[in-house]
Amino acid sequence: KAKSIGRGTYCFYEESVDKAQEDRRKLKLELSGALERGELFLLYQPQFDCDTGVATGFEVLVRWRHAERGIISPAEFIPLAEETGAIVEIGNWIIDEACKEAASWENPLRVAVNLSPVQFLEDHLAGYIADTLQRHGLAPRRLELEITEGVLIEDEERALDMLRTLKEKGVLLAMDDFGTGYSSLSYLRQFPFDKLKIDRSFIINLQSDPQALGIVKGMIGLGHGLDIPVLAEGVETESQLAMLRLEHGDEVQGFFTGKPKSIADYASLTKASEKQDEAGQPAISGRTA
Ligand code: C2E
Ligand code: MG
Ligand code: MG
Ligand code: MG
Repeated sequence: KAKSIGRGTYCFYEESVDKAQEDRRKLKLELSGALERGELFLLYQPQFDCDTGVATGFEVLVRWRHAERGIISPAEFIPLAEETGAIVEIGNWIIDEACKEAASWENPLRVAVNLSPVQFLEDHLAGYIADTLQRHGLAPRRLELEITEGVLIEDEERALDMLRTLKEKGVLLAMDDFGTGYSSLSYLRQFPFDKLKIDRSFIINLQSDPQALGIVKGMIGLGHGLDIPVLAEGVETESQLAMLRLEHGDEVQGFFTGKPKSIADYASLTKASEKQDEAGQPAISGRTA
């Protein structure tokens, strides 16, 4: 089809594809040294109990500070790291950093780490996690691992084995981006997750779209029917939060209650929890946003 538009157009198309491929190739090469050069860093986004407004934990979100291109999002560089295999080393570093950080908090909040499918299927993952928890003296139940359905689709038997092995180590397992895959239900039946994280695409339209509300209600009901707490991600407005409270959602995470930031910016949450009570005000009231 490109040819019929004319030779010039066709060439232009080819060049732009080449350019994009060249960019990716270059970024991949640069990524291989990014960890050593100290260019990767972690942001922390707080999670709150829906009813009490008390902080329950933080999700760790990685960033790459690139010398020329500025901050690069994980959506862009994690897939490249998966292709080169660098994700294993990067992922291990993230787990180590997150556990070390959480072990330093006075307030024993949970820390949630995203696992890439490639990382997840690596044989040494469970052993590495157990070692890391021990090294930093972090109780296993303070670490939550977030996995997407993509992880389970590749090799179901192996994935279920891996989930069980991880669970034996005492860590918590959350299903991330719940509702965006197509096989959630069969996996929920086969494997006891500790949390369901409703994808933010359902939360965005909560006010405007009665069907989105219906789906969110359904997901909360499903979680509760299975005795699994449900967290809503991507909560950006007060009315979304109000609706989730009304529907008995368990936890919330989003720009409204707290953006991903350096952990130092959340010192009011990580310091002794007594302080939070003394203040007499739940953290969710917007103080942290
Ligand atoms: P995710 O695990 O679903 O993480 C939630 C994403 O939603 C984060 O984007 C977060 O910044 C964003 N977010 C949170 N609240 C709101 C909100 O209220 N509104 C909007 N519009 N967005 C919100 P981020 O940090 O760009 O991460 C994107 C994805 O990259 C993550 O999705 C996760 O799949 C992946 N990722 C991030 N960090 C890591 C990591 O350390 N390891 C791995 N393997 N993947 C990671
Ligand atoms: Mg996540
Ligand atoms: Mg998610
Ligand atoms: Mg998501």
